[in-house]
Amino acid sequence: MTRSYKILALKGDGIAHEIVPEAISVLKASEEVYGFDLEILGPYDLGAQFWVDHDREEVWDPAITEEMIFEADGIFKGPVGLPQYVGLMPRPYLPVNMRPDLDVYANIRPCRLRPGVKSVLVGREPGEIDYVILRENTEQMYVGIGGYLSRGGDTEMGVDTYVQTRRGCERVIRYGFELARSGDYKGRPGAPSDGKRRLTGAAKWGICRADDLFKETFERVAPEYPDVGTDLAWVDAWSYWALMRPDYYDIVVMPNQYGDILSDMSGAVQGSLGLAGALNAGEDHCYAEPTHGSAPDIAGRAIANPTSMILSVGMMLNWIGDKRGDAKLKAAWKGIDAAVDRVLGEGKVRTPDLGGSDGTSSFGRAVVEALRAEN
Ligand code: NAD
Repeated sequence: MTRSYKILALKGDGIAHEIVPEAISVLKASEEVYGFDLEILGPYDLGAQFWVDHDREEVWDPAITEEMIFEADGIFKGPVGLPQYVGLMPRPYLPVNMRPDLDVYANIRPCRLRPGVKSVLVGREPGEIDYVILRENTEQMYVGIGGYLSRGGDTEMGVDTYVQTRRGCERVIRYGFELARSGDYKGRPGAPSDGKRRLTGAAKWGICRADDLFKETFERVAPEYPDVGTDLAWVDAWSYWALMRPDYYDIVVMPNQYGDILSDMSGAVQGSLGLAGALNAGEDHCYAEPTHGSAPDIAGRAIANPTSMILSVGMMLNWIGDKRGDAKLKAAWKGIDAAVDRVLGEGKVRTPDLGGSDGTSSFGRAVVEALRAEN
């Protein structure tokens, strides 16, 4: 019997309109090739442009309901936001605050140098860079506790509160150990330099007390995973080592904002932010969205690299496959991953961020063809 899954598709701003349709084409091809059924709801629109176009009254298409979000097997969305409206739009951008309400506490952001792609790190070859930044996704500087003291003049003050809990640290650190064990989302399990499975914890203990808790938690749970090597780094030093010896890293777990920033840096390490797929994962829900934003500097020109969005939806299939016990979905992620490698490696179709002159849909079509050809 063909198993069926409900997928909620959401667009967003800027290049979301260009890359989301390519991800949908790849999902549709994967249904045919791997033999499952995806009921794709949408894609529905939301975001800054939607808000402006609707007299600044609605932020999302009213067809998107809370029930749809909670009942979907998987969700994916393009980036949301345009710089000129940051801070002006009402929140949330959807009927629920996705990260805390869906409790997707693990943001999985792989950094892999793929065939046919040049890293900004001179001399690095594919296979030498293959780490995953695991960003805690619900705590730290983005909990939203803070305010603005408007006294005027030099004494004005902005405050953000840095919150980390034992539970929050522990569950994402355990997720990191499990990720090192499974090797999921990597080209190959283990660190490229020595093949060892390794979890690195990066934060700023000794300075931030919440990071003392992060480090203590890391050290407390590590003995339960004797098959995974461990490593701790102050996050400022890690940003140096990531560029100097990226091959040493396998899985790197970090508090929220550090992971946000360093995964953008890792976009450059892997050759382009346009390759940076990502997944927000929890126990009961997941939603896929690329690491990058709406790229207003290139939006509307149909030249964005859709790889990030395509890999993100592939990661979503893998997560659903795990949760629902469906090997076909896990095979589909592997197939999508391999199809992307094949197109990049052949280099016949290349978007401008990778030095080519092909458009978003040409690249998307090539991935669909490669996916069909491999099976
Ligand atoms: P950005 O990530 O949108 O762009 C940074 C650079 O990367 C740009 O030069 C852009 O052209 C390039 N880039 C990004 N994605 C690409 C792709 N797929 N192909 C080729 N090149 C790509 O960062 P920004 O310009 O600082 O942010 C733009 C807007 O996006 C802001 O309003 C921000 O708030 C929002 N944003 C949203 C999310 C999200 O929805 N998850 C995440 C980050 C930023």
